[in-house]
Amino acid sequence: MTLIKSLLIDGTAAALVGGRWRTGSKSFPVTNPATGELLAQVADLGADDARDAVAAAHAAWGSWKAVPAKQRAAILRAWFERIHEHADELAELMTLEQGKPLAEARGEVTYGASFIEFFAEEAKRMSGETLPTHASDKRLLVLREPVGVVAAITPWNFPMAMITRKCAPAIAAGCTVVIKPAEATPLTALALAKLAGEAGMPDGVINVVTASLPAAVGDVLTTDPRVRKVSFTGSTPVGKKLLAQCAGTVKKVSMELGGNAPFIVFDDADLDAAVSGAIASKYRNAGQTCVCTNRFLVQDGIYDAFIEALAEKVKALSVGDGREPGTLVGPLINQAAVDKVQRHVDDAVAKGGRLLCGGHSHALGHSFYVPTVIADATPEMSVASEETFGPLAPVFRFQDEEEAIAMANDTPFGLAAYFYARDYRRIWRVMEGLEYGMVGVNEGLISTEVAPFGGIKESGLGREGSHHGLEDFTELKYVCVGGL
Ligand code: NAD
Repeated sequence: MTLIKSLLIDGTAAALVGGRWRTGSKSFPVTNPATGELLAQVADLGADDARDAVAAAHAAWGSWKAVPAKQRAAILRAWFERIHEHADELAELMTLEQGKPLAEARGEVTYGASFIEFFAEEAKRMSGETLPTHASDKRLLVLREPVGVVAAITPWNFPMAMITRKCAPAIAAGCTVVIKPAEATPLTALALAKLAGEAGMPDGVINVVTASLPAAVGDVLTTDPRVRKVSFTGSTPVGKKLLAQCAGTVKKVSMELGGNAPFIVFDDADLDAAVSGAIASKYRNAGQTCVCTNRFLVQDGIYDAFIEALAEKVKALSVGDGREPGTLVGPLINQAAVDKVQRHVDDAVAKGGRLLCGGHSHALGHSFYVPTVIADATPEMSVASEETFGPLAPVFRFQDEEEAIAMANDTPFGLAAYFYARDYRRIWRVMEGLEYGMVGVNEGLISTEVAPFGGIKESGLGREGSHHGLEDFTELKYVCVGGL
């Protein structure tokens, strides 16, 4: 496709360091998970390149933070518009390298770009404070300043939105960034950086270091003292490792990690709404979203009706190449992801789970998996405690509200939770009882740029989106002016 071709230098998709496109001496393949077809060879950079990128970002920071907020906002706005002009190509690129259906990829372009639009506006509202003084000869000020060079390490499941959700607020605040995209989806990151350059982003403000082996680059980004913040989205084990690495230079960190989202359906729920919410929350992106439901907890009185209606809808989900019209579920990212889903299915069935549909790889081959529902799930099963990250819905049974809240909170994770109920008193009680960073009440899709996204417990630190997302890229400087 034209967008991929535009990234190639001598046949390799080049990384971006200090405004120059760099291919390095090695490359790695990026393939389409739906077909196995090679999309491009991508520059395979290492520790020295990462240091160069940090140096470039550090050099650019001095001038970027001095650019008036209004001008930073105008450049971000131009980037937003450029992305919209290329929305169809970006969506197709994401479908090709990640597998999600084209309609979802288009949705991600809109969602991803919304962070750039929002933070272009917020850039102009990054205000400090003046404080009432405690002594008549002093005046007290609080300045809000950009934190400095930011390393953005991102996953493959939302190749665009996970980058813009970090970079737009960082750049709006006056920071510069080094992006380390996931090895499965670096092309979207490079395309975004190219469009930013065309929109007038100065050299060095955005750098992209692509690598097949993340640790060498990650070690530099988490230990170089010039990097003042690491913003990571990915799995909890990798997040914990990076958090420990950042301790040596006491960096600010944001961690958007894994989840184990419960989706609770009470007897008084609207059944049709709950089933529609369940489909959206579970099977979007083939179950590969951090906020996607991992466990359905359903009250005894509505249990049979719910599993019957859910299984019927799940059987009707059409699986296929994301480019085919009508595809609702694309392939998983790779064979390892398929193996994990299969392990959870086999374990659940061996422990008494009742397979209502799916439970095996799809006849299309590659990494396609048949959307699956398992009834009679129990806490002993791996699906109860581990994030599946695939199209498997285990359905647990509960008797009363207290038990539901206890089951929902019985996990080290605390990212997103959902519940369906009608009684307004119950809605308040359950909303307050859930130990999660985000709660959907009678709603399965909750992400938006205007709200703070993030988790508690082992699901993470910090928030992205909303004005909180901008503040996470700033430091406060208290100034006491004396002798007045
Ligand atoms: P991952 O942790 O394997 O990888 C994430 C990123 O970290 C990738 O860019 C990878 O190359 C990089 N990485 C891995 N090891 C590294 C190291 N030693 N040093 C530096 N970088 C390293 O996660 P994934 O498989 O890409 O993504 C899926 C996970 O992400 C799931 O657990 C999901 O829940 C989570 N996720 C969370 C959110 C959120 O907002 N909380 C959003 C999307 C995905």
